[in-house]
Amino acid sequence: MKTLISIAIDGFSACGKSTLAKDLASMLDYNYIDSGAMYRALTYFAIKNNLISANFFHKNLLINKMEELDIGFVLDENDKNCITLNNNNIEDKIRSIEVSNFVSKIAEIHEVREKMVKIQRELGENKAIVMDGRDIGSVVFPDAELKLFVTADIDVRTKRRLLELKNKNIVVNFEEVKKNLIERDFLDSHRKDSPLIQVEDAIVLDNSNLTKEEQLIIAHNLALNKINS
Ligand code: C5P
Repeated sequence: MKTLISIAIDGFSACGKSTLAKDLASMLDYNYIDSGAMYRALTYFAIKNNLISANFFHKNLLINKMEELDIGFVLDENDKNCITLNNNNIEDKIRSIEVSNFVSKIAEIHEVREKMVKIQRELGENKAIVMDGRDIGSVVFPDAELKLFVTADIDVRTKRRLLELKNKNIVVNFEEVKKNLIERDFLDSHRKDSPLIQVEDAIVLDNSNLTKEEQLIIAHNLALNKINS
């Protein structure tokens, strides 16, 4: 029987983690989980329910309301894994700049992380999973057989995210996106609870000058080495 492994992909915002994780999972016939989508779904809920804005943040109310929320994933008609909130597919609502602007504030709450990590561990119970995020190799799957830490130059990341948003008909400018990435990277790396860190056993992948195909080949070979070792 083939050995099944867990693959943790962490790194800064918009450095191509999700694309890599999704393509790698598909090559290996593994499940792919975008853990960031879970924090984004909760942020979307908080915005919609007037729990967070530029002027206020009803943190304790959000923590209480979180009990009633069911966050999960569903495959759409194209076999794409989509985030659900109480069984509603909200995948196309969570990438807005508004959600991006508040998500790191919500992701730093201890109770939020506890709930998300529990769900993530359940999803990875049977291995054969590629999960991307900020704390996957450090907290969610510290025993993952393969851990990658992905990074890229900030201007390269900004251009990629701009293009992604443009393709979704979301209009924003370069500086606005760059500012959001820098702010999120700072908050994500400096929070008290499970900050983004490069764990000792992670392999660093700087993809500033790599195409996504080149990056995928490197990651696939690393995964095969682990599977066959
Ligand atoms: O991966 P993505 O950029 O969509 O993640 C959105 C935000 O969710 C991150 O900036 C971070 O604040 C939070 N996040 C996290 N832990 C994860 C994944 C995402 O704190 N494992």
